[in-house]
Amino acid sequence: MASSSSTKNIVIIGAGFAGLATFNALSPKLAPKKYDDTNLILITSRPFFTHLPATLRMLVTAEGKLEEQVLMPFPEKPKGKGEIITGTVVRIQPASSSGDEANPTTVGGLVVLEDGKEIPYSILVLATGTTWSGMLNFANSKEEITQHANEWREKFSEAKSIVLAGGGAVGVELAGEIKDYWPDKSVTIVNGQNLLFTDVYPDKWRKAVADQLKQINVELVLEDHIDNAEIHDGQVETRKGKKISTDLVVPTWGGKANTQLVADSFGAETLTKQGLVEVEKTLQVRNHPRVFAVGDIISWSEQKQAAKCGAHATTVATNILSLVDEKVAATEYKGSMEAILVSLGKNRGSAFLNTLWGVVLGSWFVKAVKSKGLMIEMMRGQYGLGKW
Ligand SMILES: Cc1cc2nc3c(=O)[nH]c(=O)nc-3n(C[C@H](O)[C@H](O)[C@H](O)COP(=O)(O)OP(=O)(O)OC[C@H]3O[C@@H](n4cnc5c(N)ncnc54)[C@H](O)[C@@H]3O)c2cc1C
Repeated sequence: MASSSSTKNIVIIGAGFAGLATFNALSPKLAPKKYDDTNLILITSRPFFTHLPATLRMLVTAEGKLEEQVLMPFPEKPKGKGEIITGTVVRIQPASSSGDEANPTTVGGLVVLEDGKEIPYSILVLATGTTWSGMLNFANSKEEITQHANEWREKFSEAKSIVLAGGGAVGVELAGEIKDYWPDKSVTIVNGQNLLFTDVYPDKWRKAVADQLKQINVELVLEDHIDNAEIHDGQVETRKGKKISTDLVVPTWGGKANTQLVADSFGAETLTKQGLVEVEKTLQVRNHPRVFAVGDIISWSEQKQAAKCGAHATTVATNILSLVDEKVAATEYKGSMEAILVSLGKNRGSAFLNTLWGVVLGSWFVKAVKSKGLMIEMMRGQYGLGKW
């Protein structure tokens, strides 16, 4: 089935921070009568929103039944136009084979869902995010995620000595959460570099976070790696041969761009070597003017963060409206300020904002904005999400 010029579906794949923000930005704008022939469709594998920044505490403790808050139902009715469909897109069929993909006003394609359903698109937004393994590999039902969280809560509760492989944001925040609940458990972070995080952030701040971790008795093993997480005789061995006593080793390193679908559908040349989607400054996918990409999957040189997704979404929403109005998509993404807020449990943390001379803020700030409530209410309000 090929799309026709009468098809006016704007289809978004993925309802994480970026996909949902794009949907929310477009929904009221497409409400006026002049857009009656245009539909807005958000397709999501998971029938609820997952507030990933709060998931580490959810995995560590059953206190507060965080799964009830971290997983948020989508609104029953959007503020403007649009519908949210649960399903997984398994294939995208661009109309490029007909040779007129370059026509910016009429040509789209179709997406195929797991159950075989086909949905034509006039304009497509890719927002498929990151795939994680292990602890952060969440299933698509609330029951399965709750079960998964219960298993990890038990592992953390039973372990006496925990080794976290990787000293990025996930490893550092996880160490803080564990220490908050069990100050007497031994927690060690093994990190490849001599400083935590990436060098996007200044050394001064990276050292300040290391100092905060030492204050709560987190051990740091720097310039070393855990290549094999297996425990032998109550110990794990690092690449340099250091043996650390432990009964639980948790890999915390990065996820992978969830872009296999994009490569399979649009060709491997659509992706960078790192598996990110090559985009123009307008966030149009290179050589595919009616396809946009947002969120973690884009080839923009910036830290992959939920905080960046709002700016991606407004850029793309403006450009999509231009295409719908048969104008040129000319709005460019200008990049976002690098900023990071790292929680170390409920009351501690550190922030770096790359503004002015580079602003470092301490526990009082991070506690107020993030650590205490994990930005749950803020996200619910900002994204128009519901409660169970
Ligand atoms: C533990 C943790 C803590 C974090 N803390 C912070 C923080 O404090 N601040 C911050 O700014 N960022 C933080 N991040 C990063 C942030 O969560 C990501 O940058 C953000 O989720 C990216 O949004 P996204 O929409 O691109 O992808 P995602 O949020 O990953 O959403 C992608 C969605 O697409 C859906 N999907 C994928 N493929 C398909 C398909 N084929 N069909 C249908 N649906 C599909 C998935 O189910 C998923 O819901 C954290 C991440 C983690 C893991």
